[in-house]
Parts: sequence; structure tokens; C-alpha cells
Amino acid sequence: MALEIKRLHLAELGSPGDDERMPVHGFVITHPGGAVLVDTGVGGPDDVIGDWVAVNVAVADALAELDMSPADISLVINTHLHFDHCGQNAVFKHAPFYVQRAELDRARRESPRLAGWFDFAGARFELLDGDAEIVPGLSVIATPGHTRGHQSVVVRGGDGSPDLLIGDAAYTPREYTGPVDQELPPGQAADRPSWEASIGRVRSMAPARVHFCHHTDVVHG
Ligand SMILES: [Zn+2]
Repeated sequence: MALEIKRLHLAELGSPGDDERMPVHGFVITHPGGAVLVDTGVGGPDDVIGDWVAVNVAVADALAELDMSPADISLVINTHLHFDHCGQNAVFKHAPFYVQRAELDRARRESPRLAGWFDFAGARFELLDGDAEIVPGLSVIATPGHTRGHQSVVVRGGDGSPDLLIGDAAYTPREYTGPVDQELPPGQAADRPSWEASIGRVRSMAPARVHFCHHTDVVHG
């Protein structure tokens, strides 16, 4: 297979007093020309991370588990610009960041305290307006709703149906597979109608596998 998806374990998040922990996953996609990183894990000033209890992993250490280093990553895709998806962008100063233009605008406006972490001096953004092919077989599709400029990643390995890296368009298999009018966990949908449209869109693609950032199970289509 020309493109291969590898999972990174970047953090555990949970609220104080709550035993439940939520994983934070990023993904490396290797392709004939190099390696792409999807999301960089947790980082940001304390007042942004707030009450989340983070067991954090340096993204360089997570890459080392794959016998890789940050220098092996030639470009980064951020599904969106929340602190647990772009917090370690600055580790990849050599790489361009592929982000929806609407998402960068949103994050600069809504999260000025976090902006220093992803909008560091010299950060090179490749701003996207909707769907785009990034390298052959690897595309992003706009999936707004969780945030205004959220995007998901589609990987076509050549065996038919694609793999979908869904980002936070669905936190877990429950939100992905549940009824469209289900009750959602806090934060899942900033804009409910857009969220429902995006879930409908990704389901209609009939992905062979759906990979989540905040759940380790893979949903098989
Ligand atoms: Zn998010």
C-alpha cells in the first residue's frame, strides 16, 4: 500500500474528580514522498488548558515510538485549531500547516491566548478554502460544525473505500454512528445544523475505516 496510517498517542485528558480519561490521538500518514502529520497534540498556556488534567506526551517522543523524528514530517494538517490538536505545532517550524482559512480566522478571533502557540513567528500556513488534495491519495474535506473551519482527512490506499481521519467532527464512535438528532456531549457541535450536514456527508462517503482523535476504537464500514 502506497499510503499507510500510523496512530500516535499524544495525551490523556479528563476533568478533575472524574476518573474517565479521553485519549488524544494524532496520525502519521506515510506516502512515497514523505510523511504527513495530522494534528500535533496538547499545548498552550495554562489558562487555555484550564481544568483539563493532561497527561501529556511530547510529540517528538510519540514519533520516536515509530522510529521517526519531527524532521521526518514534511507537512502538517491541523483538523482544527483547538489546544489539543495544534498545541505542539511549534515543534514543526520547518513544515507548512494546512488549515482551512475559516478556521485560522476563527481561532485568531476566539482564542487570542492560544494563538501564540499555533501562530508563532514564522509559522507557514497553507490556507484552504474547502476540499483539497494535499498529496496524491491524501485529501482534506471541509466538515464544519465542531468549529467553523473544521476539516477531516481522507486517505485512499488504493483498495477502494477510503480511510477517514475524522478529527473532532465526531469525538467517538457513538457520535459518528448515533442518530443525527442524538444528544451530544458538550463542545461537540458549535453549530448543530452544520455538524449534522457534515456527519451526513462523511457517512455518505462510506469510509472503510473511521479513525478518531478522542477514542481508540476504529469503526469499520
Ligand atoms: Zn476540538
